[in-house]
Amino acid sequence: MTQPLTIAIDGPVGAGKSTISDEVARRLGILHLDTGAMYRAAGLAAGAAGVSPDDEAAVTQAVLASDIAVAYENGLQVTLLNGQDVSSAIRTQEAGRLASAVSRFPGVRRQMVALQQRLAQTTPMLLDGRDIGTVVLKDAPVKIYLTATAEARAERRMKQLEEKGEHPSFEEILKEVNARDYQDMHRETDPLRQAEDAVMVDSSALSFEETVEAILAIVKDKTGVSGRA
Ligand code: C5P
Repeated sequence: MTQPLTIAIDGPVGAGKSTISDEVARRLGILHLDTGAMYRAAGLAAGAAGVSPDDEAAVTQAVLASDIAVAYENGLQVTLLNGQDVSSAIRTQEAGRLASAVSRFPGVRRQMVALQQRLAQTTPMLLDGRDIGTVVLKDAPVKIYLTATAEARAERRMKQLEEKGEHPSFEEILKEVNARDYQDMHRETDPLRQAEDAVMVDSSALSFEETVEAILAIVKDKTGVSGRA
């Protein structure tokens, strides 16, 4: 059986992975799996169970006992926790912090990685996350490492949160971005790093459209597949 087309996009928090990936996948006519949403749902599961995010055994048990799934409605991902749509609930800063904390644990990661690999086997897909090119889809024909300076990412993050009615200060967000980078890059299990065969795209000075175009050009170069306008 030939493997369906898979595209791996990794990078640090706030690099625009989710929105860029949504648009790249749409233009290629394939599904986008935002794997961060799954870790956020795992964080919510730990939060709902009332366990400390530092208690590895309790967090792992709470996540294993919960049903984390994704579905697609009109081509867009819906993230489900125990059958409930948590797509909005996972988008808070607190959910991001919880996600980063619980994603350190190997038992949690094994469960998420297995689900991601199963999904990618069934249909052409673009997956974005931290470990897609290095762990989840080591053989992906296209691997991108999407990054930007911490300041550019903090500015974008602040705008996103403002749109959601949260009003943190720039310094607070920058601190959070640096803390998340540190945690994601220094954890023992599957830390964030650029895969050796990944192409780096630095979006600090690029517009949304320019970043999408840069990634589509890499996809075309590696696979011959073109995105629509
Ligand atoms: O991408 P997003 O900010 O939604 O991800 C939330 C957290 O989930 C990240 O900070 C990271 O700790 C974790 N994550 C991960 N592996 C992935 C995707 C996300 O560890 N593939």
